[in-house]
Amino acid sequence: MSGVALEKIVKRFGDAEVIHGVDLTVDPGEFCVFVGPSGCGKSTLLRMIAGLEETSDGAIRIGGREVTKAEPAERGIAMVFQTYALYPHMTVGENMGFGLKMNGHPKAQISDKVQEAARILKLEPLLDRKPAALSGGQRQRVAIGRAITRGPEVFLFDEPLSNLDAELRVEMRAEIARLHREIGATMIYVTHDQVEAMTMADKIVVLRAGNIEQVGSPMELYDDPDNRFVAGFMGSPS
Ligand code: ADP
Ligand code: MG
Repeated sequence: MSGVALEKIVKRFGDAEVIHGVDLTVDPGEFCVFVGPSGCGKSTLLRMIAGLEETSDGAIRIGGREVTKAEPAERGIAMVFQTYALYPHMTVGENMGFGLKMNGHPKAQISDKVQEAARILKLEPLLDRKPAALSGGQRQRVAIGRAITRGPEVFLFDEPLSNLDAELRVEMRAEIARLHREIGATMIYVTHDQVEAMTMADKIVVLRAGNIEQVGSPMELYDDPDNRFVAGFMGSPS
């Protein structure tokens, strides 16, 4: 299993530095949540880990291997976004297997992996449906299924539930937690919702304006925040 290590990561967009030298270790199999207000750099950090955004300075290691300049497909990661662009003309099963098909995997193997992902996500009855015939929660599950079929060592989630209504969010939170228990991969999960962070994380990383304010377990951050920002964010008693 692969952990993720960030070493003095810096991101500049033109003259503007938005990530200021972040060091972080995510242990193999850990569920790590990045929290912080809008604009603090959560997505940018995640996109650098995914290889969707160039890293201006510093190094990224996944499973001990330096991937700072590697293509996304070479990193052993899969990313699930807030907006899940499913192919409308393909069935659920075809959507989940599409990445494998593009990589030239044999049909029987694709079918096995799609079945396995469908079982984990309870999508078996929906495999032949088109996305238009699914609810929002079902569509997000298909997007997660697409990540699972690729068999990544590390899953990256960028606010995957923020387009869902409150009830569905609670349900999907439990589902992602179950997914983590079942497949045991390393997961990094971005949210601006502290309840999500508290209920899902092994480790929480609190970000503010491109820096890490504090790293710890939900209880550590809640009971023993380093500063008022963390306390405020975690809803700690003052
Ligand atoms: P978050 O996901 O925490 O809301 P982002 O990572 O999206 O924050 O953004 C962090 C900072 O980087 C913000 O100030 C944002 O405006 C800036 N930023 C993000 N993407 C770009 C970009 N492509 N070009 C210029 N600035 C960007
Ligand atoms: Mg974001």
